[in-house]
Amino acid sequence: MNTSPRPIYLDCHSTTPVDQRVMAAMMPFFTQYFGNPASVSHQYGWEAEAAVQQAREQLAAAIAATPEEIIFTSGATEANNLAIKGVAEAYLDRGKHIVAVVTEHNAVLDPCRYLRSLGFDITFLPVQSNGLISLADLENALRPDTILVSVMAANNEIGVLQPIAEIGALCHQRGILFHTDAAQAIGKIPLNVNAMKIDLMSLTAHKIYGPKGIGALYVRRRNPRVQIAPQLHGGGHERGLRSGTLYTPQIVGFAAAVQLGIDEMGAEAAQTSYLRDRLWHHLSQLDKIYQNGHPTQRLAGNLNISVDGVDGQALLLGLQPHVALSSGSACTAAKSAPSHVLQAIGRSDALAYASLRFGIGRFNTEAEIDQVAEFAITTIQALRQTSIVS
Ligand SMILES: *Cc1c(COP(=O)(O)O)cnc(C)c1O
Repeated sequence: MNTSPRPIYLDCHSTTPVDQRVMAAMMPFFTQYFGNPASVSHQYGWEAEAAVQQAREQLAAAIAATPEEIIFTSGATEANNLAIKGVAEAYLDRGKHIVAVVTEHNAVLDPCRYLRSLGFDITFLPVQSNGLISLADLENALRPDTILVSVMAANNEIGVLQPIAEIGALCHQRGILFHTDAAQAIGKIPLNVNAMKIDLMSLTAHKIYGPKGIGALYVRRRNPRVQIAPQLHGGGHERGLRSGTLYTPQIVGFAAAVQLGIDEMGAEAAQTSYLRDRLWHHLSQLDKIYQNGHPTQRLAGNLNISVDGVDGQALLLGLQPHVALSSGSACTAAKSAPSHVLQAIGRSDALAYASLRFGIGRFNTEAEIDQVAEFAITTIQALRQTSIVS
């Protein structure tokens, strides 16, 4: 094992550690209450089913839904696929037009592109330079054959919060279904599927101190009753909409993580936004350094910056031993293309490459933030020096 100190973790939009309290809630369901929730003929099954039902009720209550409206999935990627492909297939007779946003996660963009290859018509809405869509643009994009609008609640790169309630109201007026990818939003901002007129919502546990490999799709059952075509066929679990043995420990952990997020939302947002502002206060001592995304309509723990006059790759490499963070989205880090989100808000390729995404979370401290700021400032100054010399 490498015994040198590990970098400070500031990549909470990629994933988060499991909270010890969440872990404690999950533990009994690995070895003791290990039954299959679908086993109806014995106590082991009943115990697991009771735990799943309790988690389902807790999650439903967290978003003002009913338990039957929660479909467990392996995470937000699967939930997005089920929502978008599932609606497309179920509403074929209504139309083949879908509206999404250019800054969506690839787990929304790719299913949309796939549907386009099957003959669907997809409109990718642009965003303004602050990262938010314009409601007028959305309204203009809607057509009689539009079946679905998909707009994420909180962006995973620049942290901006889209006007979900306004979008929901607009879609609802026209009888168009509204899906939101709330992977980054659940447990961090209040979400109410009724007040916000959300018809489908994708959730995941691992961005809020829950385990990886579990998430859910909320599917509205009343006003309107939303139809989706299943994408995984098998044992008929989740009322036939998503087959596969339910993963009891992960489901219990998911509910516990969401509950903690909601119980501690106010205090945690105050703490992470304090740390975020502190980090920006330090970094903004440098010149030619810019924040990406709306300054206030954003996730508390997100700071995304572009640094002029440095090479993006060199910046990330310079910081790597000290701090774990991303440049652009981690999900596309394998590809060395500038972030599609930063391009969409109008950043040049150079500024998109020379960007840093700080994801500050529950376990970060003021001392860590001060250290990271120092590392970043030293690295940026050194890189700017060498680029002047060469
Ligand atoms: C992380 C993330 C996803 C993917 O979620 P998984 O549960 O890892 O599949 C989808 N959308 C957004 C906005 C995300 O941040």
